[in-house]
Amino acid sequence: FTLVVEPLPAPAADGSRVLLVLNDITTLVRMEEMRADFVANASHELRTPLASLLGFIETLRGPARDDTEARDRFLVIMQDQAERMRRLIEDLLSLSRIELHEHTPPTGTADVREILTRTVEGLEPQAHKKAMTVRLHVPDTIPAVPGERDELAQVFQNLLANALKYGREDTTVDVTAVVVPRGPANMPATSRGPCLRVSVRDRGEGIAKEHLPRLTERFYRVDTARSRKLGGTGLGLAIVKHIVARHRGALTIDSTVGEGSTFTVHLPLQAPGGPGTAS
Ligand code: ADP
Repeated sequence: FTLVVEPLPAPAADGSRVLLVLNDITTLVRMEEMRADFVANASHELRTPLASLLGFIETLRGPARDDTEARDRFLVIMQDQAERMRRLIEDLLSLSRIELHEHTPPTGTADVREILTRTVEGLEPQAHKKAMTVRLHVPDTIPAVPGERDELAQVFQNLLANALKYGREDTTVDVTAVVVPRGPANMPATSRGPCLRVSVRDRGEGIAKEHLPRLTERFYRVDTARSRKLGGTGLGLAIVKHIVARHRGALTIDSTVGEGSTFTVHLPLQAPGGPGTAS
C-alpha cells in the first residue's frame, strides 16, 4: 500500500480546492477475512460429526434395521459424535462470551490454589485412565489474584486437560505456582508489578518450534486427526489466550519435542485499576 502525497494545485478560479482522504482499510479487510475464516472453520467442524450422525441414522433406519449388534455399536459412535458437537458449541459460546468482555477489567478476586486443587480433582478420572499423576506445588501462602474465578478455572482446566491429553502414559504433570516480582516480556505494559506465575508442565510429545506462535489461533492444531481423536475442539488455547488477556496477564509456551511442554500463565497481583482495588 503506497500513498503518494502531491502538493495541492493552486485553487480554482472560484477558490475551491480538492481534498483527497485515503483510508488504509488493510486491517479492516484482514479482520473481515479472519471472521469469514472462523465461520467457515466452525461450520466445517460442526458439519463433520453431523454428517456422520445422519449417515448412521440412515443406516439404522434402513439396512441395519434388525441388526442389534450393529445398532449397539453405531449408538456408541453416534453418542461420541453428538458429544463432540456439544463440546464444540460450548467452546464457541465461551469464546464469544469472553471476547465480548475482553476489554472490561475483571472485578472479582480468585483463589488460584483452590481453583487448581478442584481442577485437578475433577480431572482425576482422565489422569487415572493413562496412569498419570498430577503433582501440585502450590504453597498455601500464595495471595488471591484480582480476577473472575470461573474464567481462571477455565484457563487451568484447559491447560491441565491438554497436559493429560498430550502427556505420555505413566508420567507426571507438575503444576507450580509462585509469586514473582514481575512478569515476562510479553506482559502488557500496564501490568508491571508482582505476578502470580502458574506453570503446567507435561512429559509428552512436545511441540515443534514452528507451531508455537500459532498455537493459540482458533482451530490451529499440530495434528488435527489426533486432536479430534482425543476429543479436542481446537479452541482450548484460544480461550486461554483471551481470558489471560482480559486479566492483563501473559501466556508463554516452552516445549521440547520428545520431552514435553510447559505452559505458563502470569497474572498480575494488582488489579488493573491500581493499588487497593484488588481487595
Ligand atoms: P485441542 O482441543 O486440539 O487440544 P487447543 O487449542 O487446546 O486445542 O490446542 C491446540 C493444539 O496445540 C492441539 O491440537 C495440540 O496440537 C497442541 N497442544 C496443546 N497443548 C499441548 C500439549 N500439552 N502438548 C502437546 N501439544 C499440545
